[in-house]
Amino acid sequence: MPLVAAGCSQSDDTSGTRYELGALSVVPTDEPYLCEGTLSLLGQEFVRVENALGLSAQMPVTAYLGEEAASDCTSTDNALGCAQFGTEGVTIRSPLTDVFAHEVAHAVRLSRGLWGASVIEEGYAEAVAVGGFPPAPRLPIDPRSVSPGPLSSVRDSLGHADFDYGMAGSFVQWIRTTHGDTPLRSFTESSAFSGTASQRSAENTMASFESAFGQSLTDAESAWRQQGLAGVTTPRYVPVPSHPWDNGVYLRNTLDCANELVRGPSTQDGIEYGFFRIATRIPETSAYSIDFRADPGLVFEMTARCTPQDGVVPADFQAFVVLAPGEAATAMLGACEWAISVVGDLSIGGAFEVDIAPSQPGS
Ligand SMILES: [Zn+2]
Repeated sequence: MPLVAAGCSQSDDTSGTRYELGALSVVPTDEPYLCEGTLSLLGQEFVRVENALGLSAQMPVTAYLGEEAASDCTSTDNALGCAQFGTEGVTIRSPLTDVFAHEVAHAVRLSRGLWGASVIEEGYAEAVAVGGFPPAPRLPIDPRSVSPGPLSSVRDSLGHADFDYGMAGSFVQWIRTTHGDTPLRSFTESSAFSGTASQRSAENTMASFESAFGQSLTDAESAWRQQGLAGVTTPRYVPVPSHPWDNGVYLRNTLDCANELVRGPSTQDGIEYGFFRIATRIPETSAYSIDFRADPGLVFEMTARCTPQDGVVPADFQAFVVLAPGEAATAMLGACEWAISVVGDLSIGGAFEVDIAPSQPGS
């Protein structure tokens, strides 16, 4: 049998595995696979964004996901991600960050023939992206870039480079908060957001705005500026499956990519790491004993996920516990949600046991 000819070019679509998650197909581009926990988070994020928009995808959406996936975006040189029409429906190219959720917003709207004034489209995508994956590094907001604002962006049909995404997200989030989702949906699904570019006009967009919100775009922009340029709130933590606290936590599990509690892979120095991860809420601040028994190579990590009070997380609540297999510790753990992770090389995997229990006085 001859080897496959080196010149036989295939599109990169066929090199990775394709996962079908309802209307969403996922093709990983870093490694040829994704763990169950990452796939389920992608599925949750897709549905979360559909719900935030009040729309469902009307054609298949294929997402190429990985560190360099956005380098295949055709639109701009330095895009963090993109959503475009393709031969297979709508395609997303993005890293595994909240850029994915941003592009899902574009993709779901594109699948229904909805797109329009960039400042609204980008602001809407920014506003609904908050929630799941960790935020991507974004350029800091330069106050000078806040002008021109929504009004001139709509009026002048400015392209992507001419306004700040943080500003756009802030404006649309202000609209959502002030007026609610219903008029926002009626505006963003109006004739100002359908048809071809040549069928659009700034006048139609501004008239649609006023009809939806009972306020002109000019007045809305001044009110938003007067109330400050608050950015879209960024979540501090990626959501993690919760595990009940039953006078302690007693885990018996394995680091295996097929396990729905394992996310990954994340490749560093050639090693494909996986992360078993749950969160549990410890009811009271106290001393707890922590035991970690595991196959070699696994590492236990425990981090507090407290809501800061008065903007400050108390020192006790910032404990960070790291254990190697066979190690045990006693630590003061605050009454917080705690993320419990077991990390290791997915090609080796391994079984582990974690016991966290109130420390016995005097022991
Ligand atoms: Zn965008």
